[in-house]
Amino acid sequence: MEDCIFCKIISGAFNTEFVYQDDDVVVFKDINPKAETHLLVVPRVHVASLNELEDERLMGKLILAVKNVTKQLGIKSYKTLINTGKEAGQEVFHLHIHILAGEIKK
Ligand code: AMP
Ligand code: ZN
Repeated sequence: MEDCIFCKIISGAFNTEFVYQDDDVVVFKDINPKAETHLLVVPRVHVASLNELEDERLMGKLILAVKNVTKQLGIKSYKTLINTGKEAGQEVFHLHIHILAGEIKK
């Protein structure tokens, strides 16, 4: 997806550090953190939002990546969030799960 910022990040265009990656998923730090630790769990394949999800196996891979990256970083307690649609606050239309841990900013 040419104009998708997350597709560009995944392709390495900005040399973004991936705190976790596997064959299907990358995880990087949110540029505007709303918690002490704020990570984004992003599928390598472009799916605009949950509304466009067709392969249910993708969610299993994303959730397993949540488990793997939090375990790797020693984070035992965290919130997960998926915004779907503009009115719900989705800004980047490439499916992602937020991981929020530690103090959450109001
Ligand atoms: P959402 O509102 O659920 O679409 O979340 C999009 C998130 O992506 C926001 O929390 C942004 O701060 C974050 N974000 C936008 N651009 C970048 C970027 N280039 N690198 C890392 N995070 C980003
Ligand atoms: Zn994309």
